[in-house]
Formats: sequence, structure tokens, C-alpha cells
Amino acid sequence: MTDFSNQWLNAIQAIEDLEDADFNAALIVEMERRAAAATTRPVRFSTPTFKEYETSELQSCGKNSFPAFSITAAGCALMCDHCEARILEPMIPAVKPEILDRKVRELIEHEDLQGFLLSGGSNRRNEINYSRFYPVIEKLKRDFPHLRVAIHTALTDEQGARDMEAAGVDTAMLDIIGAEETIKDVYHLDRPVEDFERTLDAVCSTSMQVSPHIVIGLHYGRILGEENALDIIARSTCQALVLVVIMPFYARPGTFVTPSTTDVGHIFMAAREKLGDRQLLLGCARPPGMHKRVTDAYAVMAGLDGIAFPADGAVAVADTIGRPFHQAHACCSVKLGQGLERGLSTLSNSSCAA
Ligand code: SF4
Repeated sequence: MTDFSNQWLNAIQAIEDLEDADFNAALIVEMERRAAAATTRPVRFSTPTFKEYETSELQSCGKNSFPAFSITAAGCALMCDHCEARILEPMIPAVKPEILDRKVRELIEHEDLQGFLLSGGSNRRNEINYSRFYPVIEKLKRDFPHLRVAIHTALTDEQGARDMEAAGVDTAMLDIIGAEETIKDVYHLDRPVEDFERTLDAVCSTSMQVSPHIVIGLHYGRILGEENALDIIARSTCQALVLVVIMPFYARPGTFVTPSTTDVGHIFMAAREKLGDRQLLLGCARPPGMHKRVTDAYAVMAGLDGIAFPADGAVAVADTIGRPFHQAHACCSVKLGQGLERGLSTLSNSSCAA
């Protein structure tokens, strides 16, 4: 280890919020060796507004401007091991089109709603049928042209993707899984990895903005299909990727372990390398506490372009290694207009498979 390559490690250990953090020195040395991949890119700290958020460094703006709706309320037929539909619980239930319409209009009037995510539990084939909601989306978009709509696509085909596009959906979000074992064991789903790639290609062939997610540690906390999922995304035409980290908290106790921050940091570096100049974002879902502080520090040092709900210390890391940064209140995988958001971040406090 040269003196040069100790600079980042020494500097970030001096940050007060990180003084008890357990960093992997070799990993940071490697990140510093690839410093150009990080320090030449600005990093955006996003603070989505659908849940209370505040750190010592950044504040939430406090309005419900981009909520998530579930068209199945808390119901899901797939019941993946990592989630068992718990991810849907905090979403606003909108099981009928007219409920979605009414709630969106109310939130526009009272909470300055700028857009929303449409989600839901999926069927046994990991599909969600949104078709009866499309007329409402079309009308809302006609009445409120500023509205930005994101959707968890689940698995779909070209026609399904075109229907979303025709309804006026701006952003398609989906999880990409790179290992058959994970699809079978964690999702209880009998579909090949290719179906995830085909869905990605289908949504990429529309004019929708596409925001694929990879859940790091989805295989019970182990790293398994992540690199293959990165390759799938690298082969696609999509311009951004959201990384999240599995949260064993949502799963049945004892079934998942928390992936090590070192494993997570390695995936960050692999993603930066494989995806070149595309936007690489760290979504809201990741284990809390010191794990999150270390994860976020690695995200900044590995050159991710955006971090949702940054942990204490993340801003200081950017400052320390000389990365320009800014804060955006606009959440999510949605461009909220000129001057507010240029790129993508993530909305989902989950990464619903759906
Ligand atoms: S990840 Fe999505 S499909 Fe899987 S259980 Fe949760 S809500 Fe259902």
C-alpha cells in the first residue's frame, strides 16, 4: 500500500460520523486507484419526500410530492422470501382506478404532488395487470401535464410495455435478477433469467425512461447473480441503473443475512466499470445504521452518481475526496423538469420485484 493510496482511508477515518466505521482498507485503496472514475463526476444526494428524513447534513423538504400507490393494497401472490409483501405496506392503497384518480387530485391540491409511483403485488408469474388504471393515468396527465408517473413494470412483454407508454407513463422501473437459483428459490418463480432481460429490452424499446434495479444480496444475503445482472444491463440501451441492498429486516427472521459492506463495495466498483458513463444510483433500500454509513461512503468513493437518503458522513466523504455534489428534493427515477433533476435517482423505498 503506497502513501498515495492511504490518502482516502486516512482522510475518511477523520470524519466524525465515520470514526467508528469498519472500512476495508484494501477496497478503499482500490477505489482510490480508480479515483478518476469518481472524482470527475458530480454526486447528487436525493431526499425523496414520502417518508420522514433528516440527517445532520441534509434535510427533507417535508411534502408528499411523490408518493407510491399500490393497486393491490398489501396483497401479493408471489410472496418472495425477501419481502413477503411487506414492501407494499407503506404505500397508499389504490385498488380501483377511481381511488387513484381521487387521491392524486387531492394530493395535487393539498400537497403539491409532482408525480407518483404505481406499484402493487404481482401474480404468480411476477406480472401486474395495470390496464384498468391506464385511462386514469391518461386523464391525469392531460389535466396536469407536469405530472410524472413511474411504474413498477414487473415482468411484461413488448405489448405490455407499449401499453404503459401509450398511457403516458414516464418511467418504467423493474428488478433485474441474474441467477436462476434466485428466481426459483427467493421468488418461487418458474421463469428464466432471459425473461428479465426480455422485459428490459421491451421497456427500453419504448420512449419511457427506464430505471432497472439490482438488489445486491438478493440470494439470502449472498452475492450470486449480481455480476450477470450488471452484464444484462450493460447489454441493454438503458441509461441508468439503481442499486439497492437487501434488507433482511423485511424477510422472515433467520432466512437472510446482511451482505457485508465489502461485498457491496465490490459490486459498486464492478457496476461503475461495466456501465461506463451511464447513471449509477444508490436507491433508498439498504440496511441502516453503521452499515449504511459505510455503504454510502463506498458509493461516493466508487463513483456512483446519486445517493437517495444519504447517511451521515456521505456528504463529508464527497467533500474529502473532491467530488462535487448537490442535494435534490426530487426523488426517484423521474425527471421532474428542467433545472430540478437532470438524471435519475430512485423512488422506491423498496425494490419491489414487481
Ligand atoms: S418483492 Fe414485489 S412481488 Fe415480491 S413479495 Fe414483495 S411486493 Fe410481492
